[in-house]
Amino acid sequence: MQVVRALTELRRTVEEWRRAGARIGFVPTMGALHEGHLALVRLARARADRVVVSIYVNPTQFAPHEDFARYPRDEAGDLAKLRALAVDLAYLPAHEDMYAPDHASWVMVEGPSEGLCSLTRPHFFRGVATVVAKLFHRVRPHFAVFGEKDFQQLRVVERMVRDLDMDVEVVPHPVVREADGLALSSRNVYLSPDQRRVAPALYRTLVETARLLADGRPAAPELAAATDRLRAAGFDRVDYLELRESATLRPLERIGPAVRGRLLAAAWLGGTRLIDNVPVPPDAPGAG
Ligand code: AMP
Repeated sequence: MQVVRALTELRRTVEEWRRAGARIGFVPTMGALHEGHLALVRLARARADRVVVSIYVNPTQFAPHEDFARYPRDEAGDLAKLRALAVDLAYLPAHEDMYAPDHASWVMVEGPSEGLCSLTRPHFFRGVATVVAKLFHRVRPHFAVFGEKDFQQLRVVERMVRDLDMDVEVVPHPVVREADGLALSSRNVYLSPDQRRVAPALYRTLVETARLLADGRPAAPELAAATDRLRAAGFDRVDYLELRESATLRPLERIGPAVRGRLLAAAWLGGTRLIDNVPVPPDAPGAG
């Protein structure tokens, strides 16, 4: 596995692969790799001739009060995991090489980025869309794999690619979970043993609520009751718990016939914010 930090070296390698007709698969990550990330890498490995994984904790998607400085980092461990999966190239750009000091250009995606995580993280998707666009230009992949764990992010990236004519196929991967339902996340290491015991209530509550909403009843009272249950289970704050249409993320008051919904939530355990989502109806194909 090639470990590349310089853009010139990345470009040289990708150019050679493209000239040789290789199909390039890409998995962007912020590192601290767990089985959720590795499942995406395996999917890319199965579909590509060459696999690139980037590890970059992108500062522009964090607000000043957020956890950028303490975000978990484990470069040696990450590289060993990627080597074991026969990744061809790990791209670890230095911050100075990613953003010029006078960086001034941003990708703003409306529509799917509105509400949900933007309610409390208003600059988040601008940072995500911009860094993903930059990485796509650098890596020039034929396809890129994104996890449904970050469902709103997936929809934002899909919309950006379509609207800005990026020649990259966005391949979704279902949510990878612990045995008790908790979605794997690099941030789970922040949880105390007590918080870790409470955490699976997020997924459980989403699935229970998705089952209730599947019959088309009004969502608002069920969402309010589910929010109360999360608090009763031990969550300190619920940023949102909403029913949206799966494809567009437009808000839904209820599930209509032939409408695919997605129930999405963000909630806090102490200083740790967890997000999760499930399809509505819950047993629909692609269930996360
Ligand atoms: P991150 O390192 O958190 O930026 O995540 C990198 C990629 O891995 C994103 O596409 C995430 O959606 C995906 N990912 C993270 N956790 C999971 C999970 N538990 N299941 C599926 N995909 C995940």
